[in-house]
Amino acid sequence: MSSALTDRARELDTRHAGTDLRGRFRLPPGVVYLDGNSLGALPAGVAEAVADVVHRQWGSRLIASWNEAGWWDAPTRVGDRLGRLVGAAPGQVVVTDSTSVNLYKAVVGGVRLRPGRRVVLTDPGSFPTDLYVTEAAARDAGVVVERVEPSAAVARIEELGHDLALASYSSVDYRTGELWDLPALTRAAHAVGALVCWDLCHSAGVLEVGLDEHEVDLAVGCGYKYLNGGPGAPAYLYVARRHLDAFDQPLAGWNGHATPFAMAPDFVPAPGIARGRVGTPPVIGVAALDAALGAYDGVSVADARERSLSLTGFFLECLDALAPELPVATPREGHRRGSQVSVRHREAYAVVQALIARGVVGDFREPDIVRLGFAPLYLTHADVLRAAEHLRAVLDEGEFEREEFRARSTVT
Ligand SMILES: *Cc1c(COP(=O)(O)O)cnc(C)c1O
Repeated sequence: MSSALTDRARELDTRHAGTDLRGRFRLPPGVVYLDGNSLGALPAGVAEAVADVVHRQWGSRLIASWNEAGWWDAPTRVGDRLGRLVGAAPGQVVVTDSTSVNLYKAVVGGVRLRPGRRVVLTDPGSFPTDLYVTEAAARDAGVVVERVEPSAAVARIEELGHDLALASYSSVDYRTGELWDLPALTRAAHAVGALVCWDLCHSAGVLEVGLDEHEVDLAVGCGYKYLNGGPGAPAYLYVARRHLDAFDQPLAGWNGHATPFAMAPDFVPAPGIARGRVGTPPVIGVAALDAALGAYDGVSVADARERSLSLTGFFLECLDALAPELPVATPREGHRRGSQVSVRHREAYAVVQALIARGVVGDFREPDIVRLGFAPLYLTHADVLRAAEHLRAVLDEGEFEREEFRARSTVT
């Protein structure tokens, strides 16, 4: 069985040779890294770019670098560069803060764009920070949150009609990897005069989001998953150009002021997306993300998506052949999945730890999910097969029963 799969892996790697960009990354030898959906791998050039910021720009040029090295404008400059990957024309994306903070700005700002409406819709299965922040933002904006599964959202939007201010959803479910219908949900919200906010944490860089094309109003996402910006990389906020003049985000800070160095006593928002800024940007982190985005130079997101679908599709084939007893939580139809495959196991945490000990790095999500992310730029079909073979071995050897693999760390 495995030899047929080996041939198939080879055939698929040949077919997709044009998008094998492993050479653009610095991966440890012998590791199959399936956790790029949690912390992307290190792209070549990032360490050098960061060293330059530290040694030359900071060390030698000191404060002059705010102007000379473009530190001040970096959040919007890098925002434009990132915008290409999510289908946003320049001037609508700013790299700043964390996803949580940007979501707060987007939800409050979005509700303020639709005064008189009382409901924000969100997914009960959202990543927890999205739930916490959406609740807090709605409370502060004087509206209520209703939690409705994405699959039922369009019907609920139609019922709510003019009561709906904002529908705030993730485009890919972080646990199951299910890809929701962003265009349909967006159209439904617009049909009742409401806005949408999409969280792109698990879609940016691996599938075509098409923010401008689908007339999305607001979006947020993080820099450290498939965009490879490094641990704690700054996140981003997208506000569609047509909303920018009226976008009244709640965290008025001096970096978002129209004339920050006038040191004026009262807040006047900057024109354009710069009003999404709050305080001083993490310059080193922005520089790392900027350099990391170089891994996507010359690559279209459509190409990355094609490779991603091939990798996840092949992993499903491998599972069917090697581990058919494992329930798959991810939809099988390509158009319904992001760039991950999740399987369920009662000892999912220990299964993941046993895989890591074998050099196959994935992660665990409550309650029973073995989550494997397939970052398209640096994985091959041969890696995919190796991962499936190790998974088979972990199950056969009963490695998940071992004490050493059951002890929980802080970060899972
Ligand atoms: C990773 C992730 C986050 C992370 O939020 P931070 O504030 O950047 O830590 C938020 N939402 C979703 C859906 C995520 O996948």
